[in-house]
Amino acid sequence: MPQLERKVESATEAVGELAAHAAAMGPMVPKGDVRADVAQSTGSAMEAVAGLAEHAEKVRETIYSEKAPKPAVDAHEREISIVVSDIEDAEFDSADLFYWARDTVPGAAQMPEYSVYMTDPHPEFTQFTKEAINIAVGLIDDAELRERFLANPPVVTFENEAFFSLYLQATAAPVAVGIYLVDSNHMIMRSEYFEHRTDAEVIEGMVHEMVHYASFLGGGMDIRRKVEPVGVTEATVWFIEGLTELTSQLAARESGRVPENVPYSYEVIACNYIMMALGKDGRGMLEDACLSGDYGTIADALDKELGRGTFDGFMEMQNGAEAVAYLEKIVQEAGIDSSSWMDSPVMLGARRRIEEGPPKW
Ligand SMILES: [Zn+2]
Repeated sequence: MPQLERKVESATEAVGELAAHAAAMGPMVPKGDVRADVAQSTGSAMEAVAGLAEHAEKVRETIYSEKAPKPAVDAHEREISIVVSDIEDAEFDSADLFYWARDTVPGAAQMPEYSVYMTDPHPEFTQFTKEAINIAVGLIDDAELRERFLANPPVVTFENEAFFSLYLQATAAPVAVGIYLVDSNHMIMRSEYFEHRTDAEVIEGMVHEMVHYASFLGGGMDIRRKVEPVGVTEATVWFIEGLTELTSQLAARESGRVPENVPYSYEVIACNYIMMALGKDGRGMLEDACLSGDYGTIADALDKELGRGTFDGFMEMQNGAEAVAYLEKIVQEAGIDSSSWMDSPVMLGARRRIEEGPPKW
């Protein structure tokens, strides 16, 4: 989003930026009054930020139905902190604002005490942001979702090891080389890792985080079904990651960027099993589910192909490796010839990574 990239000279200007930013987020909210509320609260920076926090809360209410649980981590305040880190002669202290947001925005208490973003500017990486956005946009068929994605295009920053160790400690997340801050258009890449990777992997890594963002806009990064909501649980995070990675790998490769590495290897293989079992419409169905959060179509189609209860059983698996074993067995028992399913370039990459382990850096 352009206003995030522009430097501002004063707190007053910053407030304008924040309000414009909130207004730009408007399409996510059906009623225009929230936009007007935030745009008017320009008395002080604090007020504008408060307006934004309130706005974020309303957006969340719109996106998450009563049935679907809200995600554990709310990261909207981090988007605010990017704006703040751009302010050079501000009358307020950006650290104070960060702590204020951390204490005020729900879920933000899990954030590390680290107010400096964009620690590693890395222009040699961020030159790829546009290309990654184009690849991600190519995946979004829904015109309204595409419009909302482009109204607040992804902001990619690269952060150093100090940031990542704090972040991973604070969120108890496993080792990550990229983070999508849920509830924002901000994604953070781990510079020390990508310094040792190819351009294609930098781009594919960005696309992966952007697909998370598109899924957040389209369905709250949730997994649910028309009848019985499954919700986000520990057991389904791996499924979202596998789907996101498979989708990003295929899209990056089609654009001519071939990553050497296929992370989330087992998870990607499990999703590939579903895609192949569903036949020629499989990929489209998986992409639709990933971006809308509605897995009803996949659940029905998979049960039709592989027997009733297949999808429910799949959702009970605790990780990708378990899911692969589960589907392998069902496919075999159904007498389906799956001998060629593991031969695609993405599958070969995933298998290689399982054999050789993740790259050292
Ligand atoms: Zn991910």
